[in-house]
Amino acid sequence: MKSSTTISHGNKLSSIFCNLFGHHYVVSKKVTKHIKEYKCLHCQKQVTTDVSGKLSALTPQMQDINSTLEDMYRKRQSRHVQHVA
Ligand SMILES: [Zn+2]
Repeated sequence: MKSSTTISHGNKLSSIFCNLFGHHYVVSKKVTKHIKEYKCLHCQKQVTTDVSGKLSALTPQMQDINSTLEDMYRKRQSRHVQHVA
C-alpha cells in the first residue's frame, strides 16, 4: 500500500515551463555582498548562493546559515562606519 505524496503546492504548469526554459530567479533577499537568496518567478523555488559561489536549494539549514552570515555582515558593516571619525 503506497500512497502518493508527490503533490506539490507549486503550479504544475509553471514547473513544466521551468523544466523547458529554466528557472527565472529574482533576488528575494540580499544576505551579504556575495551571497543572495533567489526565488523563481514561475514555480517559487528558492535557492541561495553557497560558500563556493554556486546556487543550491534554500533548505532550512541554509536559511539558518544565511541569517547568521547576514547578522555578522551587518555588524561588521556598522563597525566600519563607526570607525570613520
Ligand atoms: Zn522555476
